Amino acid sequence: MNLSEAPKKEIDVVLQDCGWRQTKQRVVLLKSIFDGKDKHFSINQMNEILKENRSYFSLTTLYENLNTLVGKGYLKQITVDKQSFYDTNTTDHIHVFNQEENQIYDYKDCVELHKDLPIPACLALLEEYSLVINIKKK
Ligand SMILES: [Zn+2]
Repeated sequence: MNLSEAPKKEIDVVLQDCGWRQTKQRVVLLKSIFDGKDKHFSINQMNEILKENRSYFSLTTLYENLNTLVGKGYLKQITVDKQSFYDTNTTDHIHVFNQEENQIYDYKDCVELHKDLPIPACLALLEEYSLVINIKKK
């Protein structure tokens, strides 16, 4: 979903679906999250992006808004290491958690891992991929 250049009508659909009144802040939030790219972020990372876009949320409000987007199926929540990350790609796929960077990535994008860390073939048979691979340098 790309809302960054979307007509107001399209943004209104999401706002209504979430039961939100239209505020400038929420429009900035939606445009910051759904800019057409697959994105993984934590609540703190999104808070930083919003600040750069001159939109200020309390962490509680931001958390509630992200939860609503998860509940409505616009975002997927991935919990790893007692932290929540959000993914704009809501299809089932495997994630790699890089402990040093404190960031998750899609397994398919971690090309250098493919040769060292083959994913067991049996996983392809699972419908729900909730696997997170935790990597840390020795
Ligand atoms: Zn992902």
